[in-house]
Amino acid sequence: MTDELPAASHTIQQFVHGYEEEGVLRGFRCGKCGTRTATWGLRCPVCGHAERTEEPLSGRGTVVAFTVLTVPGDDFLNDAPYAYVVVELDEGGRITGWMPAVREETEITLGERVHFAPSYKPGVQFVRDGPSGAGG
Ligand SMILES: [Zn+2]
Repeated sequence: MTDELPAASHTIQQFVHGYEEEGVLRGFRCGKCGTRTATWGLRCPVCGHAERTEEPLSGRGTVVAFTVLTVPGDDFLNDAPYAYVVVELDEGGRITGWMPAVREETEITLGERVHFAPSYKPGVQFVRDGPSGAGG
C-alpha cells in the first residue's frame, strides 16, 4: 500500500484549538475546484482533491437548519433547552454549532443572521447579530 494520507495545511488539533481557545474559525479552500469548507478534513468533500489551503472565516453567517434540544449532554445541563444549528457562513461552507437561550422553535427562524461567539463550552457557539446587524 502506498496510499498515504495527504497533509493538511493545518491539523485537526489546530482547527479545534482555533474555535475553542483562540476564537477563530479555520476554513479551507480547495486548490482544484475552489470549494470553501468550514470544517476540517483531509480532502475536498466535493472533488476529493487533497491540496487545500487554510482560509480564515469571519464566523458570520445564516441559520439554514436547526432543532431545539431539551435533553442535553452533561456539558449543557445548565443550558437546555438550546438550539442546535447548521450555519452557512458568508465565505462559504456550513458548520454545526449551538445557540444558547433559544428555548422554543418559535424563538429562531431559518435565515436568521448569527455570528460565532467563542465559549468555554465545547463546540461552536453562535449568537444572534445585534439590531444594527453588526453583531457583537
Ligand atoms: Zn475541490
